[in-house]
Amino acid sequence: MTTDVNSLLRGMQAYQLGQATLAAMERDQVWPTPLNYEIWMHATANPDGPLALEIQRLLQKDKMISEATSDRLAVEFLQNRRLDDEIREAGDQLNRELDFVTSAIKKAQQSSLDYNSTLDRADQSLSLDLESKSLRDVIKSLSTATEAVRTENRSLEEMLERSTSEVQRLQFHLEQVRREASTDALTTLNNRKSFDDAIVHLCEQADATGQPLSFAVIDIDFFKKFNDTWGHQTGDQVIRFVASVIGRVAETPRFAARYGGEEFCIIFPDESAAAAETIVEGIRDEISTRMLKRRSTTEDLGMITVSVGLAQRTPKEPVHSIIDRADAALYASKRNGRNRVTNVGTAPLAQ
Ligand code: C2E
Repeated sequence: MTTDVNSLLRGMQAYQLGQATLAAMERDQVWPTPLNYEIWMHATANPDGPLALEIQRLLQKDKMISEATSDRLAVEFLQNRRLDDEIREAGDQLNRELDFVTSAIKKAQQSSLDYNSTLDRADQSLSLDLESKSLRDVIKSLSTATEAVRTENRSLEEMLERSTSEVQRLQFHLEQVRREASTDALTTLNNRKSFDDAIVHLCEQADATGQPLSFAVIDIDFFKKFNDTWGHQTGDQVIRFVASVIGRVAETPRFAARYGGEEFCIIFPDESAAAAETIVEGIRDEISTRMLKRRSTTEDLGMITVSVGLAQRTPKEPVHSIIDRADAALYASKRNGRNRVTNVGTAPLAQ
């Protein structure tokens, strides 16, 4: 049975849980960021739960957990992150409903127009010169009724038109909100959430077509030191710069995202790791040869480099496995001196 963390946090054991959480974070060597605190608190409260077991598995495998991995854990295991998914699903459903309503309104408008022209034609035939008074009276009243219906129809049409444009406005707004929700605000690359959806979808597509898929993780070297030296604003500019280089070469059908703080990733559908390696080598080279200046003082910011881990998916390989292999390749790049690409292809990385 799982423990309800929220009620624990308002009970006798709250501080005990807080302390145990911090101890666990220190033991597992993760930064005490708010997100990590939330993840480790849930894991500490439920030491046999799936989240705690996944953390153990990752630590046994890689000995450390990166910020990007924490993000993944949060999306996979924390309820409030899953809520985002549900909100998106509600948005999708609303969109489908709006489509349905728009087409129903359009259909209604069309039948109203058809009816009007039928009435028009009947009106013209009936106004021919006729002898009988009673027939003329009938025609007169029919004509009046027709005119009333036509006026009614016109106002109905106006209402339908207004509703259609309101529905279209709502759809446009919803689309904008969805775009914002899937975009990283600093870099305008895809954000972590849309990456999580995209990789699942693209792996399924690769399974269906039998085509290769490669995956690269790109991390800015010594970024924390850089931030400490030059400040967060300049750090943000560097993230924007790296993102812009990545974004330029990783256009659709490739999929580039900001994966975590200073970590990015690219999914290469239909491309082997050898082909993707040429691309990420180009990115690494472009970044390391550009002279960046601090905008406020024009001081030289020194060399910015990135390390890259690259893996090609084996057929039917689970999503977490290719991410883990690319992550391990990234750590190999770091260990071997940074500013380099490690391509493990389809092979597991030798320890
Ligand atoms: P940004 O400042 O919004 O600049 C967007 C794009 O405008 C740049 O894309 C570049 O094509 C052009 N641009 C802006 N300022 C200059 C300039 O002074 N000289 C030249 N030749 N072009 C300029 P790019 O290069 O891909 O950079 C993307 C983002 O990366 C920039 O967004 C900025 O946030 C950051 N960045 C790039 N280079 C530097 C730099 O030397 N210092 C700082 N602090 N940030 C930089």
